[in-house]
Amino acid sequence: MAKQGIFDDAIKRLDEAFEHANIDPEALEKLKHPKAIMQVSIPVRMDDGTLRVFDGYRVQHDDTRGPTKGGIRYHPQVDLDEVKALAFWMTCKCAVVGIPYGGAKGGISVNPKELSRMELERLSRGFVQRMADFIGPDTDIPAPDVYTNPMIMGWMMDEYSKIKRIHSPGVITGKPVEIGGSLGRGDATGRGAYYCIKELEKKRGWKPEEITVAVQGFGNAGQAVAKLLHDDGYKIVAISDSQGGIYSKDGFDVPSIIKTKNDSRQVKAVYCDGALCTAVPADTVTNAELLELDVDILIPAALENVITDENAKNIKAEIIVEVANGPLSSAGDRILRDKKHLILPDILANAGGVTVSYFEWTQNKAGFYWTEEEVHQRLQAIMTREFNNVYDIMERKKIDMRTAAYAHALSRIGTAISSLGTHAFFSNGTH
Ligand code: GLU
Repeated sequence: MAKQGIFDDAIKRLDEAFEHANIDPEALEKLKHPKAIMQVSIPVRMDDGTLRVFDGYRVQHDDTRGPTKGGIRYHPQVDLDEVKALAFWMTCKCAVVGIPYGGAKGGISVNPKELSRMELERLSRGFVQRMADFIGPDTDIPAPDVYTNPMIMGWMMDEYSKIKRIHSPGVITGKPVEIGGSLGRGDATGRGAYYCIKELEKKRGWKPEEITVAVQGFGNAGQAVAKLLHDDGYKIVAISDSQGGIYSKDGFDVPSIIKTKNDSRQVKAVYCDGALCTAVPADTVTNAELLELDVDILIPAALENVITDENAKNIKAEIIVEVANGPLSSAGDRILRDKKHLILPDILANAGGVTVSYFEWTQNKAGFYWTEEEVHQRLQAIMTREFNNVYDIMERKKIDMRTAAYAHALSRIGTAISSLGTHAFFSNGTH
């Protein structure tokens, strides 16, 4: 699908959820328009002495429930429309898990793999120089997203603190633990999805060993969910990254594949005994083929719109866990919904990342840091509670899980908006 119109495609889902949410129509109208948009140009002196100018964006979608929150993405495909859609999803995601934030997103249109480390640092600091009056610990709090990482968050926090002349760890989350990051933030997105799958396991009563899983996208979140499922006995039979993928019906040793991916930046079918890695038999598959494999659980964990009206009819996995943001277009979603696939929607399934970001922010504010066990326990409590809330709405109203998640989010956002008064209140003159 053309990337044009991804925001409009995304907000269509509000209308469907509205009829199940019992909120004032004014709230719906408000959510269709982002609160504020900032677009900047970032000049960077490259290592060879030339100057390149990069486009950067930050969209604050809605701040009714608290300061806006959401990651910063470095990717050549980034544009304003995409960032608007991603910011909208953050508003809904924070509401689904009940954390006191609105939604935002940022991005720079760049292929970070083409930059040296020093160029990357200059670009990241340049972004903050331009955004310093738009973001802040009590207004809008960025975090990592596709191709950004803790060190980049650290540079951004450092730059912001220098500009404001005040140590400000709470301006950004996903920082290195040594400079105010939270334990347990690294694998939080994948872990949140894992807790959702564990709840589904209880409902369905399956045994992990019986379940085959394919993971599309092997960055931070894809690796974490694959590892946790593998440790539990699930069979991870297919894995891919942007270069392509591997398949073996017997399943892979996920820690070995993570090790080689992080050493060589490639997904290779290997088994590692300590530092010694040897090849294991596997087929190669393209990303498109991986999505259509006959597995029980498919986990898209890369970019948006990988399942559309063009390939949705070929998807065989009964359960789809959206670890990426927006991996299904609304048309693709409709096809799968009609075929009765169970889709754990992004605004629930990948909410573990922002939930632990919230923990990081509260720890920064308090100046008091938690143990990793505490982070895991609190994350599990929230994910379990909200998975079951959404699942109950789905069953009670006989709707799909995505619509249920949006209805749940809309109820929280809608009552927050109404608490300040709506037309129904103001048109009735008396008090
Ligand atoms: N980028 C992540 C997301 O899409 C995390 C956002 C955050 O931690 O604020 O949910």
